[in-house]
Amino acid sequence: MAKSPEEEHPIKALGWASRDKSGVLAPFKFSRRATGVKDVQFKVLYCGVCHSDLHSIKNEWGNTSFPIIPGHEIVGVVTEVGPKVEKFKVGDKVGVGCMVGSCRSCHSCASHEENYCPKTIFTYNSINVDGTKTYGGYSDLMVVDEHFAVHIPENLPLDATAPLLCAGITVYSPLKFYGLDKPGMHVGVVGLGGLGHAAVKFAKAMGVKVTVISTSPGKKTEAIERLGADEFLLSSDPAQIGAALNTMDGIIDTVSAMHSVMQLLALLKTNGKLVLVGLPEKPLEVHAFSVVGGRKTLAGSCIGGMKETQEMLDFAAKHNITADIELIKFDYLNEAMARLAKADVKYRFVIDVANSIGK
Ligand SMILES: [Zn+2]
Ligand SMILES: [Zn+2]
Repeated sequence: MAKSPEEEHPIKALGWASRDKSGVLAPFKFSRRATGVKDVQFKVLYCGVCHSDLHSIKNEWGNTSFPIIPGHEIVGVVTEVGPKVEKFKVGDKVGVGCMVGSCRSCHSCASHEENYCPKTIFTYNSINVDGTKTYGGYSDLMVVDEHFAVHIPENLPLDATAPLLCAGITVYSPLKFYGLDKPGMHVGVVGLGGLGHAAVKFAKAMGVKVTVISTSPGKKTEAIERLGADEFLLSSDPAQIGAALNTMDGIIDTVSAMHSVMQLLALLKTNGKLVLVGLPEKPLEVHAFSVVGGRKTLAGSCIGGMKETQEMLDFAAKHNITADIELIKFDYLNEAMARLAKADVKYRFVIDVANSIGK
């Protein structure tokens, strides 16, 4: 018989788990593997609350194995390193994002794109190489292969940096890969949540002109005054849309609800690229005319590889980019999830893990 989560590994750990699709999170005793030769063990200090966590605790994608401890925007401090660890020493500030493993030998892994490996092991709700389940960062400690850990630059505050490990890399990677990072370019950002607000900050730091595209007129002041966007486009206003046709080199589309991508494709210049990073539940509608005329690209992107995640953090450190956060304790977590479901957060909840997990 399989051992219980509390007994399967030698290191005692405490997390907050959802035990069924009600999604209610409560304290949960489990265990972590002993620190292996290439592993770092670290005390979790902060963990961001990503929208994926909310989907997963309620089994909204239909793939959740309960109990689940979510959390994949994790920062902490190294407490132990295995004998063959090269990148980290005890006391280092460390970050872990959406992945904790991959095959390390396929084409994607060889190209530093572990995020596209067919055998990616995700930080939670995945199966580790030893056959046990992975548990995420809503927990007091983690053990991870050093390849899947990154250094947090010294000048970045740990709490507001945590969300960069998912939200940050999710928008940084497509800006770079699709060549939308050249000064003078014009990039649209659709949706002003956790991903969108990070996209505005990274694109501005790259020297790009940024237009926030939204259905909520109330977000205009936020977008321009708080986040530094250059322009705001109300997508429900035909006059504003008409004036913006054929003006953008690219668009980062963070929206996970159903919406018209054909309207967005029309905003692109010839050769423009619309990159989806959100995940609407149902298929989107695209008429061939929308991409054929103007030789446009409808594309997607999913987080980023480990090398690029470190590069993203170093870029953030250079340009002082962090997420706008609301710091919470575990006793507020269920309420925070209810607010997140209504998009009532600017722009990311981050859990003060070390100061509230045992209390
Ligand atoms: Zn995430
Ligand atoms: Zn691979």
